[in-house]
Amino acid sequence: MNNGAKNVFLFYKKTPEMEEISKTITEEAKSYGYHIVSNAKDAQIIISIGGDSAFLQAVQKTNFRENCNYVGISTDSLGFYTDFTINESRELFNSLQEEQISIRQAPVLEVIINEETPFYCLNECTIRSNVIKSFVIEVFIDDMHFETFRGDGMIVSTPSGSTGYSKSVRGAVIDPDLPSLQVSEIASLNNNSYRTLGTSFILGPNRKLTLEVVQDGNDHPIIGVDNEALSIRHAKQIHLSLANREIKVVQKQEHSFWKTVQKTFV
Ligand code: NAP
Ligand code: MN
Repeated sequence: MNNGAKNVFLFYKKTPEMEEISKTITEEAKSYGYHIVSNAKDAQIIISIGGDSAFLQAVQKTNFRENCNYVGISTDSLGFYTDFTINESRELFNSLQEEQISIRQAPVLEVIINEETPFYCLNECTIRSNVIKSFVIEVFIDDMHFETFRGDGMIVSTPSGSTGYSKSVRGAVIDPDLPSLQVSEIASLNNNSYRTLGTSFILGPNRKLTLEVVQDGNDHPIIGVDNEALSIRHAKQIHLSLANREIKVVQKQEHSFWKTVQKTFV
């Protein structure tokens, strides 16, 4: 890391236990010549302390900055974004200083609802019925009407999100080097009136997916971006595509995505 890149912002849940952990990390950071800043905008390195959940929040709350490095420090086992444990924080600062790290460019999903300001997702965007009843979505790939979905909802995930929610509905685990979007159904009805593909499908980096919520009374779905619910009451049309931005995720030099997949699931 060059000398201009020494400002670190720590993101964590403000509990007494986490405050203690953050104090230790702050001391270690200082001993390596890093400055802890109180505004994420001033940081070149943003560190989340917690699990993957904390990492997702850190990225959401700091608005998917492109000109900084995001690091995840895990308080328990390693996750998909957290490549360092709290016991390895010295190793982390040392590796940052010696540039003995690898930086992964993580694709980001862009979500535009009713032609308004875009939202971004690192894992996935979910659209789900907020009541017991199913709801109907017209699904378009680019400008082609592809299918009429009726059921509980849909998940559109990035490659890094493919090991999260998407996997629980039998989506494929996607290599994070493959810029793509995976579209999965949550409990679709399939009968003579409604027919969907029935499997997840993967779109290339230049495709656009449009979901149109059929306005039939049950048209106030919950929209989730990673682990946040949007407060949009009336979603009519949702455009989803890969954003023309990526975030940088710091990993150990020897990091292997497939090793993490194996350790976590196999
Ligand atoms: P949560 O419901 O408290 O926990 C979901 C679990 O997913 C946690 O163990 C979390 O890890 C893990 N996780 C998050 N991102 C992941 C990824 N990219 N690959 C593999 N595992 C991942 O929710 P949360 O902790 O706030 O995390 C939000 C994420 O949970 C969503 O983005 C979605 O992917 C996932 N989710 C899954 C389901 C499901 O599988 N049925 C339902 C809702 C949401 P940590 O424990 O390290 O935080
Ligand atoms: Mn969690």
